[in-house]
Amino acid sequence: MSNKSLVVITGASSGIGEAAARSFSQAGHPLLLLARRLDRLEALKLPNTICEKVDVTDLDQIKSAVAKAEKQYGPVDCLVNNAGVMLLGLCDTQDPKQWEQMIQVNMMGVLNGIHVVLAGMKERRHGTIMNVSSVAGRKTFPNHAVYCGTKFGVHAFTEQIREEASSYNVRFINIAPGVVETELLSHTTSKEIVSDYQDWKKQMAEPLVSEDIANSMIFAYQQPQRVCIREILICPTKQE
Ligand code: NDP
Repeated sequence: MSNKSLVVITGASSGIGEAAARSFSQAGHPLLLLARRLDRLEALKLPNTICEKVDVTDLDQIKSAVAKAEKQYGPVDCLVNNAGVMLLGLCDTQDPKQWEQMIQVNMMGVLNGIHVVLAGMKERRHGTIMNVSSVAGRKTFPNHAVYCGTKFGVHAFTEQIREEASSYNVRFINIAPGVVETELLSHTTSKEIVSDYQDWKKQMAEPLVSEDIANSMIFAYQQPQRVCIREILICPTKQE
């Protein structure tokens, strides 16, 4: 299979997903970009790219976008399951709807993506699925209880699905970033928590930028198919 196969990236309308879209495009891949803000996807103006307004919590929307892209560019060889939300809060005061949103997007969204592409990859005996979890999927942080729950979950199911898919030559890669400067924090509704987080972030003279994560994705994907980098935990040097 050509290394210029179709790559699907969820949550490509900002931050890490947007940087990943630019990097995979620069590497010559046709792309399917998914997010709810279609205008932001289209504004990237990347060549050989289909942009679709998709909510990753809706399995059918992902299915029909992938079918459309595969018709034009051939089978998906790489899925970057990047879409995610971080709504920080304390369990006694946070609106449970915010937990539901994180569980739906960060876990169901990733599982939906896997469900849509994995059967084809197994059949072709070739493919790569990259799930963006977090350092918060390996250790806990204040106000992050449910967010951490979703990201620990991503690590857990990725490891099990990898075992199930390994004999089909399909790779599963966990990308686990530390603090990256993006829009992620802007959705947290507690001003106090946002301010505490920003103070904590200031201790790291240099948080990562989205391109740092995109570079690690490209590195992992461009390894020969026999090489599966199972996990990349990538943090600012000054993050504890
Ligand atoms: P951004 O907020 O910039 O990007 C999040 C992306 O997810 C957006 O493109 C957004 O698109 C998309 N998204 C959110 N909800 C949905 C949905 N229901 N359906 C489709 N797309 C959705 O943050 P980051 O780039 O930082 O986040 C990317 C990933 O990286 C997330 O999984 C996050 O948890 C993870 N991460 C980030 C870290 C950081 O410090 N920034 C650290 C560790 C992990 P739209 O709103 O247009 O739908």
